[in-house]
Amino acid sequence: MKIFGILDLSTLDYPKKCSSVVFMSGCNMRCGYCHNYLQMKKNTYDLPPYKVYKSIDLTFSEAVVVSGGEPTVQPQDLKEFCRIVKREENLPIKLDTNGSNVDTVKELIQEGLIDYLALDVKCAFEKYWDIAQYDGGKIESNVRKLLKICKEEGVFLECRTTYVPGKMDRGDIYTIVKTVKGCDLYALQQFDSEHAWKEEYRRLREPTLEELLELGRIAKEYIPNVVVRSKEGIVYL
Ligand code: SF4
Repeated sequence: MKIFGILDLSTLDYPKKCSSVVFMSGCNMRCGYCHNYLQMKKNTYDLPPYKVYKSIDLTFSEAVVVSGGEPTVQPQDLKEFCRIVKREENLPIKLDTNGSNVDTVKELIQEGLIDYLALDVKCAFEKYWDIAQYDGGKIESNVRKLLKICKEEGVFLECRTTYVPGKMDRGDIYTIVKTVKGCDLYALQQFDSEHAWKEEYRRLREPTLEELLELGRIAKEYIPNVVVRSKEGIVYL
């Protein structure tokens, strides 16, 4: 199992729970604003899933988050790790995913291994190639499938967008929220220009909290539960 980090205790990664976070290496997208893209290329460790589990200090954790990178690019290790956490600790697991691999997520959910799915919906689907270098048509279809699977299986679904001014506008938010309006929570996240791996993105400005709140109010027309996450704090609308 290739990982590039473990965070023993986080109060941010699993809403309303203290959690431990495992960052799995590798990703099939190339988002210009990614914080981890270069780090996971340089600092990857390869350990058996049980060793990864034993390396985490779970003393104060109420949940485990599997993040990345994109965890589903290592489907067997991801499954094995989740099975170990459920068997040994029976803790809730949150999976962060870019939505590129529905089959793996479906298998995990149907095996009862995922309690909370956080699904990136990065922009209007026709812009995916520019922003993430990935096929937006495939993601649009996958997002619809994941909405259905989570609903049927009773898994909490958060859809989330990192808002990048200069690359996106309110039209993207309308497209996204109309597509994901059945989700349990929609999150707007502040783009962090300083840690973007592409220079082009490091030159873009970050959105203000007021801008994000205005976009959050658009989302709220379609989705009852909306949250804005910015450097200035977390606001539930
Ligand atoms: S999908 Fe996530 S990990 Fe992959 S490049 Fe984009 S932001 Fe980075």
